[in-house]
Amino acid sequence: MKKTEISFDLIPSSAVSTTALTICLKCAFDLFIKQLKVAPRTAYSELKKHVPEQTDFAGSSTARPHFFMTEETDRCPYCNGVKRWFAEFRAIRIDAHPSFEKQRKKLWAALKKEPDRFTIWSPERTQMQIFSDWLERMKRRIGFDDEKWLLQVAVEHIKRAAPSNDWDEALRGGVRRVQLSRQVEGGWRYENAWLYVSPELYGDVIMVQHLLSRAHSHGGRTFEGRLTLQELMGRLRRIGYFEARAITTRDQYEAFEQAVSAIVASGPDAIYYAVDRGDYLKQLKTVYDKKRTK
Ligand SMILES: [Zn+2]
Repeated sequence: MKKTEISFDLIPSSAVSTTALTICLKCAFDLFIKQLKVAPRTAYSELKKHVPEQTDFAGSSTARPHFFMTEETDRCPYCNGVKRWFAEFRAIRIDAHPSFEKQRKKLWAALKKEPDRFTIWSPERTQMQIFSDWLERMKRRIGFDDEKWLLQVAVEHIKRAAPSNDWDEALRGGVRRVQLSRQVEGGWRYENAWLYVSPELYGDVIMVQHLLSRAHSHGGRTFEGRLTLQELMGRLRRIGYFEARAITTRDQYEAFEQAVSAIVASGPDAIYYAVDRGDYLKQLKTVYDKKRTK
């Protein structure tokens, strides 16, 4: 009997990110058999239920028997076991957005029909927390020494604001420049490696750049150069950002806060995780079968 493979293709690829976590099954069995003194059969049935914690995937408390593989890894960092002991969990994160909520629900209904293979969870995060988490991830990913981060962040933000587009296809020529334009319809237009964006989107981008880099250096670095908060507000006013965002206050701190709120509100509104245990269960069985026949 062939089951239909569950596909995440319904969800815009820019809203999906995957983290792979490796488990060493030699360590895992040893823990049960040698330390907890249980029979291999009991160990196997316990391990079949095993799902790593969110914190294991986040890397904040990844511990034996879990680790992250790199290209150089060919031995378990804890027991020196070889690769045939390894199995992989994949945590698939979806940054949910109202524009594809119907498809997300459909996918979740399909995942729920395979509870052995997929464990799903949805952490309680406010939209503001989701945004802060994203900023933190971006900070870790980008190197501030190189000016390239400005472009990288701009493209990431634009993808995030409009996740229903097939960005890889749309931007397949790469982006060399993000250009403010008052003549784009629907927020953006891509032509000859230039991404033309509306005042609203352009303003969002320099706001995000400012938010990311202001702790790093004096003033925030943006496409418009290094700007103090006052200079940033002046620049946004001139490009018509506040008008586009319907922000009317003359107080710059209030305007800044309202702009942040507007950016947050335009982003993902919930986070969903699915942990795929397909490879793990298969490897676990293989290892157990070998143990039994030994
Ligand atoms: Zn090991």
